Amino acid sequence: MTSSSSAPRADRRDFPIAIIGAGFAGIGTAIQLKKAGIDSFTIFERAGEIGGTWRDNTYPGAACDVPSHVYSFSFEPKPDWSRTFAESWEIQEYLLGVVEKWKLREHMLLDTEIVEARFDEEEGAWTLTTGSGDTFRARVVVAGAGGLVDPSFPDIKGIESFAGEMIHTARWDHDYDLTGRRVAVIGTGASAVQVVPSIAPQVETLAVFQRTPAWVVPKPDHIYSEEEKERLRRQPWRLWLSRTLRYWGSELFGPLVFLDAPRLSRLGERMSMRHLHQQVKDPELRRKLTPDFQFGCKRILISDDYWRSFERDNVELVTEPIEEIVREGIRTRDGALHEFDAIVMATGFSLNIATAPFPVTGRDGRTLDEVWSGGAVAYKGMTVSGFPNWFILMGPNTGPGHTSVLVYTEAQIQYALQAIREIMREDLRWVDVKQEVQDAYNAGIQGRMKHMVWSSGCSSWYLSADGENHSLYPGFAAEYILRARRFKPSEYEIAR
Ligand code: NAP
Repeated sequence: MTSSSSAPRADRRDFPIAIIGAGFAGIGTAIQLKKAGIDSFTIFERAGEIGGTWRDNTYPGAACDVPSHVYSFSFEPKPDWSRTFAESWEIQEYLLGVVEKWKLREHMLLDTEIVEARFDEEEGAWTLTTGSGDTFRARVVVAGAGGLVDPSFPDIKGIESFAGEMIHTARWDHDYDLTGRRVAVIGTGASAVQVVPSIAPQVETLAVFQRTPAWVVPKPDHIYSEEEKERLRRQPWRLWLSRTLRYWGSELFGPLVFLDAPRLSRLGERMSMRHLHQQVKDPELRRKLTPDFQFGCKRILISDDYWRSFERDNVELVTEPIEEIVREGIRTRDGALHEFDAIVMATGFSLNIATAPFPVTGRDGRTLDEVWSGGAVAYKGMTVSGFPNWFILMGPNTGPGHTSVLVYTEAQIQYALQAIREIMREDLRWVDVKQEVQDAYNAGIQGRMKHMVWSSGCSSWYLSADGENHSLYPGFAAEYILRARRFKPSEYEIAR
C-alpha cells in the first residue's frame, strides 16, 4: 500500500487490503486473513481505540442482549464470561484481548478516518483518502464501518435551548454525576431499557418520555460461578454445546420474532403481558406500557428490571407527547413544564447501513449514494454492482431480529476471504457482481419482506422512509449462512 504518511508493515506487500473499522467485523476479518496467511492488510479506525459499539456505548447498564457464548467469535471462544449477557466493558475487554493475541495493532491506523474512496478500473485498486489528506491504495476493501454508529438526536423544537446537561446514551459523559439530579430519559428502545433501571436508584427523580411502548420479555441472565467457568475452561465441548444450543434455540424461536404470523406473535405477546403483570401492579400504568403493535414488529426488548422501575416512587412514565425542549426542561403538549437538570437521549442512531459511510466512487464515476438513492441493496448484503473488490460487512439486509449478528458477520468474512483468495490466485484485476445477479437476489429478499412482522404496520428504524426494509435479513441465520457459504466467480464480472 502506498502512502504519504508513515504506514504499517502491510505497505511492503504487493496485495494491499484495507479493512475499514476496528469493531467486531474488522477485527474478525483481520484474524481470518492472518489465519489464511495473508498479512498485507491495514485496519483504518477513525476513533482512537478499537471496539466500535462496545467502545462507544458505555452508559450505565450497557450490555448485550444476546448471550455472550454466541455473541463472541466462534474462533475465539471465551470460557470465562462473567454472566450470560455480558456488560459492555467486558465485551470491550474481550475485543482488546483478541487484538493483542493476534498482534493486530501493528496493522492498525487509529485516529484515521477514511473520508473518500475511489476505484481505478485500469489498476484494479481503490484509492482511500483520510481526513488529513493522506492517500492509500488498496486492491481490496473490506468495509466494516458498522450499521448503528452515529448517535441520532431527535428533531424536537428548542433542543438547543436546554440549559442543563444533555447526554446521548451512545456518548455517555462519565464526568457528569447524576446522583441526586432530576433526570429525563427520552426513548424507550433497547438502550433505554438498560439505562433506566441502572440510574433510577441514583437520581432524585426520573421521568421516562415514552412515544411508543415496547414488548419486553424476561432476561434469563445468570452469573457464572468460578466452578462453572473452570468447567467451561477445562472442557471446551461444554462451551461449544452452550453456543450451539443457544444458536439453534434462537433459530427455533426465530419465526415467533420475524414472521408476520399473528398466532405465533400472540404467544410472544402473552409471555410479555405475563411479565408486565408480574412487574407492574397498577393497571393504568400497565395499560400505558402495553404496545399496540404486533410482537416483533419493533425490536423485542429483554429486561427483568425495566418495567419494575416504574414501581419506584421517584420514577414517572410520561406518555403525553413532547411539544418542545426549553431552557428549564421539557414542555409536553398539554402545556405542562417538566423541569430537569439532565436529559438523557436514548434515541438511537442514524442508520448507517442505508448510506455510504463516506463518498465511495466506483466504476463509471457512479457513487454508492447515487446507486443507493432508492434504498441500500447489496448482493448477499456484501457486494454492490459497479463497486468491484469492495466487500461490506453488516451491510444491507443482513441484520438479524432474533439472534447474534456475529453469526452473519462470520459468514460474510469467510465470503470476502474466498473472494480475496480467488483474486490473488487467479491474478484478477477486479471482480464486480453482475447487476442481474444482484437484482434477482434483492427481488427475492424484498418479496419475502411482506411476510415479515417488521412490515406489519409499526414504524421503526428497520424501515426506510418509503416503508422498505433494507436492514434485516428475512429468514433464519442458518439459511443466510448457507447462501453466503460460497463465493461463485460466475456471478461476477471479472477483469484480468
Ligand atoms: P431505538 O431503538 O431507535 O429507540 C429510540 C427510542 O427513542 C424509541 O423509543 C423512539 O420512539 C424514541 N424517540 C426517538 N425520537 C423521539 C422523539 N422525537 N420523541 C420521543 N421519543 C423519541 O434506539 P436504541 O434504544 O439506542 O437502540 C437502537 C438499536 O441499537 C437497537 O435496535 C439495537 O439494534 C441496538 N442496541 C442493542 C443493544 C443490545 O443489547 N444488543 C442495546 C442497545 C441498542 P419510537 O419507538 O416511537 O420511535
